[in-house]
Formats: sequence, C-alpha cells, structure tokens
Amino acid sequence: MTRERGKVDAVAKGVRRPKSSIGGRLELFAEVRVSLHKGRSLDVVTEVRTVRSHWSGLVRPDAFATASLFAETIDLFCEPDLELPEIYALLSGALAAVAASDAPGTLVPRFQLRLLHALGLAPADDACVRCGGSFDQHGAWLDLEAGGLGCERCYGARGDAHAFEASDVENFRALGAERGAGAALRATMQVARATDDLITWHLGRRPKARALVHELT
Ligand SMILES: [Zn+2]
Repeated sequence: MTRERGKVDAVAKGVRRPKSSIGGRLELFAEVRVSLHKGRSLDVVTEVRTVRSHWSGLVRPDAFATASLFAETIDLFCEPDLELPEIYALLSGALAAVAASDAPGTLVPRFQLRLLHALGLAPADDACVRCGGSFDQHGAWLDLEAGGLGCERCYGARGDAHAFEASDVENFRALGAERGAGAALRATMQVARATDDLITWHLGRRPKARALVHELT
C-alpha cells in the first residue's frame, strides 16, 4: 500500500537469499521507502529503506491476526493504482496502534468504521436512512440493504435483531469520529457486531483473517 499510488503489485527478487540487501528490510507490516522498477506485469523492488517497523509489537498471535485482518480488509476494498492517502494514513496508524495495544482485537470495530468513512460507505450516524429524522431515546436499527441506520418510527415495529440502544448510537458516532474530536476507541458489543456486518455486506464475504482474530482475542 503506497501513499502515492495506492495499492501496488510488486515483486522483490531473491529476498530469501542470505546475502540479499533488501530481504531483511522488507518485513511484513513495516513502513518502508522503496524504489520500484517498472516491470512488464509487476513492478520490481530495487531498493528498500525502513521508515517504521512494528515487528516486535506484532509477533504476538492476537496482534499479528489483527494486523493481518486490517491489511486483508484494505486489500479487498482497494483497487490497484488508485491514490488513497487517507487509507494509507489509516493503515499506518492502525498498525502502530495494534503493535502498542494489550488488547489488539478491540481495535477492529474502529478500524472498520474509519475505513468505511474513508471509502464513503459509512452510514449517516445522525439521520434515519428512510425518513431523515433523528434518533431518540429508542435507539436505532441497522438496515444493511438500505445502507444506514433507521429510527424507531420507521423500524420499531419490525422486531429487527439489530437494535441499537441510545448509548450504542452515541458510541457509533464517537467510534467513527476523527481522532481528538471526542473519538471513542472501543465499541459496544452491538456496535462491534454492526461494523462487522457492514464490512461483510459491502465485501460480499468475510475476510479470512477475521476467524483468526475471533479465535485469538
Ligand atoms: Zn425514520
């Protein structure tokens, strides 16, 4: 994932040879400065310098699984050669947070929601998807097919399983907020389920690493 070109397919030749000058620097999840030579189908890595490596914080099973889930989710959503600086910054910050966290799995919902915001796919958190009205003390309902949250007047009678309490709506807003702006880092159980469902719905499947994260955290 690059800052200038978004997702790029590249190959690093001979990196498993003990004397390779770039092998040791192409660590998984490290932020690096690379030189790429334009190849016929794949770019070729010719030079690598490490900018930031979180390896020591990511060699724990739960942290590694969470970092893998973040990388896989971004890989599934992003097309190659499309500049996405906001998503680059999100991934960079999220990997650092995982490496430093005692409970990396708890960072998943905020990452998912911030990613949906960056992609323009996050539901409005202040207006009903059907009538545009605000949510009251009855909370809200998640309507995946309509792509948003619904109010009690529109959804209350349906007996839908995805009911948000008013405190969940509050948490959903804070979880999607930019850092500093009253942002929450942890999701309530209902909000965690909702962000996971939103990701799965938009992708049409669950990322593979998700099962591992659930098993290990
Ligand atoms: Zn409504």
